[in-house]
Amino acid sequence: MDSAEYERRIAARFATFDQDGNGYISREDFSTAAAALCTEFGATARSEKGQALYIGAEAFWQGMAGIADRDGDQRITRDEFVGGAVKRLRDNPDRFAEIARPFLHAAIDVADGDADTAVTPVEAKRALKALGVPEEIAEGVAAALDVDRDGRVTEQEIVQAFAQYFTVPE
Ligand code: CA
Ligand code: CA
Repeated sequence: MDSAEYERRIAARFATFDQDGNGYISREDFSTAAAALCTEFGATARSEKGQALYIGAEAFWQGMAGIADRDGDQRITRDEFVGGAVKRLRDNPDRFAEIARPFLHAAIDVADGDADTAVTPVEAKRALKALGVPEEIAEGVAAALDVDRDGRVTEQEIVQAFAQYFTVPE
């Protein structure tokens, strides 16, 4: 991968986290993501599933801040993201999976219409779109998640795909 392609990929990852698009990653981006998923799937913030999602989002933020917020100002700048998060996540993808898992677990619960602890590719696509992923990309990602084409995307598949997406090779 050339450096322009690497930069482009990093910028796309950063934009995924910077949900409100204000140029840095903060706690608000994670609560914004939780709110977007609740709205998309008709869960209230005060419901059990809604609360679990907000708690998972907070834990995700704390984990990311611990890795990347070097000056402790509660904001992850693009420089901190590239220098801290991207490098450390690449060195240790399992750590990233651990940080993201409570949020992803709760997101699956919110999106899972028939409560079989997995989401359908359609539900996965709706979740991605709610998080601002463009339609055509969300479609492809959701289809790819269902590796064995049984119509179910499990937590393990999502956690792995998520960690893979954010551990950008140099
Ligand atoms: Ca932001
Ligand atoms: Ca900072």
